[in-house]
This record gives sequence, C-alpha cells and structure tokens, in this order.
Amino acid sequence: MTHAMPISERYTTIVAGAGPAGVLAAYHAAVKGPVLLVEAMSLPRYKSCGGMLHHHTLRTLSEYGQLPEELVLSPRTVRFRYHDWDRRVLKPTNLEFLNVDRARFDEWLTTLLPHNVEIVGNCSLRDVRQDSRGVTVTLRRDGKDIEVSCENLIGADGGRSQVRRALGVASTSTYVTLQDFVKLEGPIEPYFDCIYMRDIGDEYAYSYVVPKGDVAIVGSVYYPRTKRPWEKQDMTLDILRSALPQLGTSVSREAAAALYLRGRADVVPGRGRVLLAGEAGGFMSPSSGEGISYAVNSGRLAGLAVAQSDSTQALAAYTALTTDIRANLFRKMRWLPVMESAIGKVVAGFVPTPIVSRVTQGL
Ligand SMILES: Cc1cc2nc3c(=O)[nH]c(=O)nc-3n(C[C@H](O)[C@H](O)[C@H](O)COP(=O)(O)OP(=O)(O)OC[C@H]3O[C@@H](n4cnc5c(N)ncnc54)[C@H](O)[C@@H]3O)c2cc1C
Repeated sequence: MTHAMPISERYTTIVAGAGPAGVLAAYHAAVKGPVLLVEAMSLPRYKSCGGMLHHHTLRTLSEYGQLPEELVLSPRTVRFRYHDWDRRVLKPTNLEFLNVDRARFDEWLTTLLPHNVEIVGNCSLRDVRQDSRGVTVTLRRDGKDIEVSCENLIGADGGRSQVRRALGVASTSTYVTLQDFVKLEGPIEPYFDCIYMRDIGDEYAYSYVVPKGDVAIVGSVYYPRTKRPWEKQDMTLDILRSALPQLGTSVSREAAAALYLRGRADVVPGRGRVLLAGEAGGFMSPSSGEGISYAVNSGRLAGLAVAQSDSTQALAAYTALTTDIRANLFRKMRWLPVMESAIGKVVAGFVPTPIVSRVTQGL
C-alpha cells in the first residue's frame, strides 16, 4: 500500500530503500508483522542501470511469479562479449542476460508487496538509534522529521547507505558511472559488449554498449574520484562512433555511483538489530558490477531472517544465511588486482575464448 506518510509510530520491521534488496526484504519480513518501507526518491523510483538480468536473478524471482513481458526490451537477450578495442579482439561468451527496462522492472517488484507493507516515497531515513527495546529511526518527509520505532531495521539504501553510516560502519568508496542513451541509426549485434580502450587514461575502467529497443546504452565506469568524467565519455563515444556509425546522437546522459569493493571489511551484514542488504551491505559482484542478483538474494535472506527469528537473533540468522554469498564475494575480490591492472586487461585478450566464456559464467 502506498502512503504519503507513515501511518503508525511502531512497526515490526522498517526497511530503508525501495530497490530490489529493500522490496524483497519487505516482502518476507511482512510475514512477521507490519512493515514500513521508506524510499528517498519519489515513487516509482528511477535507478541508472544497464537493465541486464543475470540468470541468478531470474532463478530467485521465479519464486514470485512470471516476469511481465512488457518489461522486456529488444533484443530479448544479450550475451556478454569482451572487447579489447585497440587490438580488435572480440571474445563472445555464453553468459546471457535478459534485457529489461530497469524502471519498469523495479516498479513491477513493488507490485508483489503484500498489503501489510506500507511504502512511502520522498521519505529519507536520517538517523538510527538502538537499545534493548528495539530500533528508533528518524525519517524526513516534506521538511519534517518524525521518529518511528521497530523491532528490526533493514538498511537496503544502496551504495551510499545512510543506515550503514549511522551504524558507524565505514562506507565503501564508489566508481563513477556515466550512461548515454544514444539513438540507433541501424541494428547492432545482440551483445552486452564490455570494452577496454587504452587511450582513455588510467582513471578509466571500462565501457559497455547494450542495445535497448531503438536506443543503445553506452556506459562507462571510472575509478573513484575521477575528475571530469564527462570529457572521457565524450572521447569514448567519438571512438566508438568511428567504428560503429549506428550509434547516433545522445538522447540523454546520466551519472551515478556503483560500489567499489576492495576487501572483506566492505561486506557487513549489520549491527545489533539492524541488517544491511544489497549494496548497503556490500553485496554486489566486485568483478562484473552485476548487482541485481546480489540485491534480490541478500534482501530475500534479510527478510527471511527477520521473519523467522526473535528480533535479537535476526542478525545472527542473516549472517549464517549469507555465508555462501560472502564467500563468493571474497573469492571474486581476490581476482580484482589482476583484472584491474592494465596488464590483466591486455592478457584477457589472449585468453582462449572458451576459457573467457567459462570464467565469465562465474563473475
Ligand atoms: C550505471 C549502472 C549500471 C548497472 N547495470 C546493472 C545491470 O545491468 N545489471 C545488474 O545486475 N546490476 C547493474 N547495476 C548494479 C545494480 O543496479 C545495483 O547493484 C542494484 O540496484 C542494487 O540494489 P539495492 O536494492 O541494493 O540498491 P539500489 O537499487 O541502489 O536501491 C537503494 C534505494 O535506497 C534509496 N535510498 C538511499 N538513501 C536512502 C535513505 N537515506 N532513506 C531512504 N531511502 C534511501 C535510494 O533512493 C534507492 O532507491 C548497475 C549499476 C549502475 C550504477
């Protein structure tokens, strides 16, 4: 149910952030009692994203019903392809993504919520206090602060999580991302092309091109604190257009941030009665930037942990339930220094295509 203001002073669970982690967390926590889901943006929210759904996302979501066809764009699926631009090396893989409209996907997720979840947009969590009786959060809506309490709080408020900060957990740093939506003047191949070019400079990680109906997303990822990334994006677009004239004019450009995970300390399930899910907890692939499957899976487990445990035991239950996800993240982090080095990117171009294909299945 969507409301203009929280209608109660106490809920069993409060969830901050209506992304995939928050929605799945709220869905499951609602089994225990009323849930308040607050979202800082207006609803339906908009998240800058490539909108590519990994098979892990689809497997988890199959539990909640059929994904509506209206969300799916043309081409329906795209396969991951590594592209060393300067050496003209292409490594197509078998890793396939469902190509969706991310805004409509996020909106569809909220339609799954049961009636005892109240969802309030334009409402930001500002502060968190916890004691032996529970958790009290300060929320701001329409310039006014209100206090609402709960047994458990789930922070699913993304890569710059305020809940994480309020708990005193060190924030992770973030990549700078830019995405241009460019008109397609002709068809391009049905790939999610991940492109590496040397000319863009050391602050540049990689670019990607993915067709989305009559436009294509041309995205680029830059290391934290990159200055004037839009100039690098202009340069990247010029280089890409010289070989791909189908990439027409840019209809819009958006900037965002994505988690830059470095080590085990970045992945934190929570503190006390507060659980951290999705990017807020550090749950996102550090090697590929794929985050929706980590968000739905960690959000689901946070909601289940709250629903199935005493409020003082929910974090312990969640920590146990996420053991495999954390092990998977730590394994991927070990490869980062190699993958991110200039030499690693060059070597990737020499690795036989079947091996690139096999390795990317696990990224
Ligand atoms: C450019 C880009 C492209 C990407 N492409 C892909 C892709 O193709 N496939 C893929 O799997 N992943 C992709 N990702 C990653 C993916 O989008 C995220 O990992 C995923 O959305 C994380 O989900 P989440 O629920 O943890 O957080 P988010 O989706 O970030 O949601 C967090 C929500 O919390 C809200 N919020 C923040 N602060 C507060 C507050 N104080 N109070 C209340 N609400 C708050 C925010 O407004 C936001 O709506 C991409 C990311 C970027 C930046």
